[in-house]
Amino acid sequence: MSPLYVPPPECLLKSFTVPRRYLFGPGPSNVPPRILTAGSQPMLGHLHAETIEIMDHIKSGIQYAFQTQNRMTLAVSGPGHAAMECAIFNSVECGDSVLIAVNGIWGERAAEIAERIGAKVNKIVTSAGSYFRNDEIEQALSKYKPVLFFLTHGESSTGVVHPIDGIGELCHRYNCLFLVDSVAALGGSPIYMDKQDIDIMYTGSQKVLNVPPGTAPISFSERACCRIFSRKTKPVSYFLDLSWLANYWGCDRKSAQHLHNHINVNLNKLMLSISLHKDVAAYFHEGLERIGLKPFVEDKKARLPTVTTIVAPPGYDWREITGYIMKNHNIEISGGLGPSVGMVLRVGLMGCNSNKPYVDMILEALTDALKHCHKSKV
Ligand code: PMP
Repeated sequence: MSPLYVPPPECLLKSFTVPRRYLFGPGPSNVPPRILTAGSQPMLGHLHAETIEIMDHIKSGIQYAFQTQNRMTLAVSGPGHAAMECAIFNSVECGDSVLIAVNGIWGERAAEIAERIGAKVNKIVTSAGSYFRNDEIEQALSKYKPVLFFLTHGESSTGVVHPIDGIGELCHRYNCLFLVDSVAALGGSPIYMDKQDIDIMYTGSQKVLNVPPGTAPISFSERACCRIFSRKTKPVSYFLDLSWLANYWGCDRKSAQHLHNHINVNLNKLMLSISLHKDVAAYFHEGLERIGLKPFVEDKKARLPTVTTIVAPPGYDWREITGYIMKNHNIEISGGLGPSVGMVLRVGLMGCNSNKPYVDMILEALTDALKHCHKSKV
């Protein structure tokens, strides 16, 4: 009789063919062959000289992409959520006051993360599709005296790119750190960490960077490090504790590095890709109007170039449209998220996917879907 209580699963004994698809949702984006090839390089040991060299290159790439000279710059092993928790867990202690800007789902998530560690969470909230003025932010900073202010740069649930200028300076006037989530915008919309006085910023790999999910670039200013390394209590997460990560990534000036892994992050040509995203998005938005669809964000300058939200066509079921396009055109686009559920379709054109022939393909698919999906009288 076999000693195995659980037999080997049949499904694991069969090969699995992964279909090729156009990933034009809000993420992940397609991974170009150059990066897929980088992922199939031989395995290295976690302390080999070449591994350390690769990590140093990754750090320099992130400093370039973020436009920062911060020494404390690294990539967290995990998706964007890991970086989000890393930022908040390290900079906030139980009982601290924090201020969260909510103009979509990512502010809501940041608030929940801060709540879970016992912070006093204060929110400013605006409707889906809009953003905050600096005087509204200043009023809340002066009222709540937070240690940290969280803002989403590219709100992928509503398609808004938030203005950043002047906010860091305001935060510092109120002795508060400025934290920016640029998961859905970095590389597609300009941001300058040092020049814009941002204290903590992170992004994800699976959007504009065209890398599979699982590594999240993050950077901390000197001001953020001073606060983090003088906290009274240890951060709740061992895995995301910045003192460990700093050593792991060689950011703490200690001679011995412990405990690290290596990842493939391709951060080249980012600055070129920023103007490209803007042009391609404008071309897409014009095309939408031509086929009778309406961008959800009315203020043109607040439209996120990486993720476009489209008013859900009246009379249609958005699920039928996304399903039709997947089935007949092999293209993924998505419906709304959080406050925009049922209100919008979302189309992401990020990194190598940001080009005009792909826009034409999406416009054709949308036109076809509107012709063939069921439309009720409105
Ligand atoms: N922030 C924003 C703005 C995002 O768009 C996302 C992912 N859609 C995240 C955070 C979370 O990233 P991840 O899914 O990689 O955890």
